[in-house]
Amino acid sequence: MNHTGGCFCGALRYQVNDDLADTGFCHCRLCQRAHGAPVVVWSTVAREDFTYTQGEPHRFESTPGHWREFCSNCGTHLVFRPDAGDTLDVASLTLDEPAQVKPFFHIWTSSQWPGWGGAEALPRHAQEEP
Ligand SMILES: [Zn+2]
Ligand SMILES: [Zn+2]
Repeated sequence: MNHTGGCFCGALRYQVNDDLADTGFCHCRLCQRAHGAPVVVWSTVAREDFTYTQGEPHRFESTPGHWREFCSNCGTHLVFRPDAGDTLDVASLTLDEPAQVKPFFHIWTSSQWPGWGGAEALPRHAQEEP
């Protein structure tokens, strides 16, 4: 099944040919810092099933042999690519239709942001806080 996605500004576009069943929340400190968010949703796919269809990402080696690929114009992080292995991770929320993806697990909960706990029970507003 083909999915498409891209960065916020549209300079980078990609296509992924996978059912995106291997999807989960990552609470690691590196993802928190790279994305400025408490948690990042990643879908792991075979490398040959992922293609950039527009633009070239910038790359940052966040730990030796592990690369984060992002848009140099808008800063959106799209891909986590280890040198080893035959898979990469796609930032699931950069898909054009992220509602099609379902998360199945949490990893790196040892560095979970304390504010994440109980967040589901906080006061909720459909849009901005009134
Ligand atoms: Zn961009
Ligand atoms: Zn992570």
